[in-house]
Amino acid sequence: MEIKVQQNVSLRHLCTYRVGGPAKFFAEARTMTEMIGLKAFAKEQKVPFLLLGAGSNVLFSDEGYPGLIIHNKMEGIQINGDTVNAEGGVNLMKLILVCAQNNLGGISGLANVPGTVGGAVYGNAGIPDIWIGNILLQAVLLPEKSLKPKMVGPEYFEFGYRTSKIKGTKDIVLSATLRLKPEPQAKIRADINEYIKQRALKQPSGNSCGSFFKNPKEFPSAGWLIEQAGCKGMTVGGAQVSPKHANFLMNTGIATSKDIVELAVQVYQKVKDKFNVELEPEVQIYPTSPFAKTE
Ligand SMILES: Cc1cc2nc3c(=O)[nH]c(=O)nc-3n(C[C@H](O)[C@H](O)[C@H](O)COP(=O)(O)OP(=O)(O)OC[C@H]3O[C@@H](n4cnc5c(N)ncnc54)[C@H](O)[C@@H]3O)c2cc1C
Repeated sequence: MEIKVQQNVSLRHLCTYRVGGPAKFFAEARTMTEMIGLKAFAKEQKVPFLLLGAGSNVLFSDEGYPGLIIHNKMEGIQINGDTVNAEGGVNLMKLILVCAQNNLGGISGLANVPGTVGGAVYGNAGIPDIWIGNILLQAVLLPEKSLKPKMVGPEYFEFGYRTSKIKGTKDIVLSATLRLKPEPQAKIRADINEYIKQRALKQPSGNSCGSFFKNPKEFPSAGWLIEQAGCKGMTVGGAQVSPKHANFLMNTGIATSKDIVELAVQVYQKVKDKFNVELEPEVQIYPTSPFAKTE
């Protein structure tokens, strides 16, 4: 098998934050065999590896990533009755539209979440009324310590709010089977449009990773805490707390990764000082996070 592994590839255009230095090694995986080959390559080279989906929940350092970035390009979709099997690299919006064409709803709430199926399972992506862990029937993983795929049920993931067990392992989601809801196509399309409209009303457009911090249990939301702590509009270099939604830390166009991290640290500190609450990032910061103790 011939897989093209490149060196020193900039990660900036591979993530929605549009920041980050180069990956030491970079390759695309289009098939399970390539994925297995790349995992073995990282082991041979004695470097860490990281799966990258749409890059909508990662913040890479300006120094880049000192290992192998595997860009997930496994993008197969198969409808079976009222379930769908999607490979880990499938874009969520594409999946929602394919399901709609087949009169299958039940995932429209994820409309315009700009991630992949694998990234969504990793972080149990969702909105208050629907999250992926709730409709997952089974998944095929490449386990942390093996090159042999295995099928697991939803209980394996121990899903919680924006979390799953695989955040603590190096399991790769090769594919996921989701349970859908047969519905008239017109209804599904109306739902999709409504979710997109609501999102546009509340969230700023531009370069971000969506909500930066998780919502703590005892308070209305992380955004509320950040706003009450007086952080709305705050800037560090080219990074800004969005004036529209305080939990969106934006790259205004000229931010470095360091600016965004520094802004996040300042926001964290201000919220801690005012409310004695330690916010926990939803965004994954690589290769090392200053919030490691709270994640
Ligand atoms: C404008 C905007 C709005 C957003 N709104 C929401 C929202 O409403 N709800 C929500 O939950 N999130 C939201 N997000 C965050 C993000 O889109 C989700 O977390 C998404 O699921 C991340 O998927 P991804 O493919 O981009 O993952 P990436 O950012 O590429 O990766 C994130 C993590 O997942 C891991 N990963 C990726 N693929 C795999 C795989 N196949 N196997 C194992 N691990 C993998 C990566 O290694 C990394 O640790 C939003 C982001 C943006 C920019």
